[in-house]
Amino acid sequence: MQYRTVPKNGDSLSALGFGAMRLPMKRGRVDEEKSIRLIRMAIDQGINYIDTAFPYHGGDSEKVVGKALRDGYRNRVKLATKLPPWNVNSREDMDKILSIQLKRLQTDCIDYYLLHSLNAGIWKKFLELGVIEFLETSRAEGKIKNIGFSFHGDRKTFHEIIDAYDWTFCQIQYNLLDEENQAGKDGLLYAASKKIAVIIMEPLRGGMLAGGLPGEVKTIYKRADPRRSAADFGLSWIWNHPQVTVVLSGMNDEKHLAENIETCNKALPDFMTDADLAVIEEVKSVFKNKMKVGCTGCSYCMPCPFGVNIPLCFYYYNQYYMVKNKIITRGFYGMQLMGGGGTPANASLCRKCGKCLSACPQKIAIPDELQKVSQKLDNWQTKLFIMIAQKLFRPAVKDE
Ligand code: SF4
Ligand code: SF4
Repeated sequence: MQYRTVPKNGDSLSALGFGAMRLPMKRGRVDEEKSIRLIRMAIDQGINYIDTAFPYHGGDSEKVVGKALRDGYRNRVKLATKLPPWNVNSREDMDKILSIQLKRLQTDCIDYYLLHSLNAGIWKKFLELGVIEFLETSRAEGKIKNIGFSFHGDRKTFHEIIDAYDWTFCQIQYNLLDEENQAGKDGLLYAASKKIAVIIMEPLRGGMLAGGLPGEVKTIYKRADPRRSAADFGLSWIWNHPQVTVVLSGMNDEKHLAENIETCNKALPDFMTDADLAVIEEVKSVFKNKMKVGCTGCSYCMPCPFGVNIPLCFYYYNQYYMVKNKIITRGFYGMQLMGGGGTPANASLCRKCGKCLSACPQKIAIPDELQKVSQKLDNWQTKLFIMIAQKLFRPAVKDE
């Protein structure tokens, strides 16, 4: 197993982390037996970073991870989980949720504790509710060790959050299509320059970069010499960045685990050849041609006086046309931008004031494009999704 070091504490983490967001399922529920077997198998093969979160699988992910880490496995890993903004409405809620998490995970300390899914609105909400005091008190009491955050906002906000606290680590969405989106490559380099370890989530965009690929992309990968799978190319490209500490993968069978370990073992920093990188560039250009709006996520147009998160609206709109699973994209849009987790910042809030227009280096007709986003994504289907998601997540805060 390849290991990489966390700059601020010297921890040696496996470059491949086990993400417990998509555990194996059986008859609509987490297949507990298979999940435990898989997590332990991963640890036996050298994986020492396990990532879960309060809402994953409606709370069952934390419970199953807790069970998997019995019998001596807990001491062999660094355990990460997250404080969910969707369930926090007071300072007291934070303590309550952490205590539920410790119980579910059958441990007395979380090694890596994250504020979940920050963007500008959620960060503001957390600050107002006293999250820094909560984090520092919990650390002083020995309930959490290292403090970080996961992120789905715009680049400018990422810089602000990085500068606002002495974080040990952060978690960003990064893959060959998201170099310019959300925190992006700029964010990766900025965090690393501040000695903040960077954990990568969605390395294959929820599987989109490994399966169900457009025919043109399949042809490009087939032509590559030596021939490798799309997943191997996609993951290797991320590990090729020396600034990356851990790449999370939601592996749900033994074959998947073995393939990822094989890729991880060879994918050292800066190991990709010019020919490999040329293949990646070709793949990127095929996907880029399918985008509806040429937004690079630079955030120069922000802030919008009416609260629209312009780059994130375009990000999900583009994603909607690039992926097969449109429900997931709609869900993310709803939870991130329509008030699922903080202040609404969706496309319908645009008042066509025109302030953003001159700031856009891509000369995008922002208000007109936002109207299209609004027609496609700000509708009853997304609202229904939010209602269902909130019903599933919120009740989980009660004492367990
Ligand atoms: S045109 Fe719309 S998106 Fe642009 S600044 Fe005005 S309200 Fe915000
Ligand atoms: S300025 Fe233009 S390219 Fe940059 S985030 Fe705004 S819309 Fe996108």
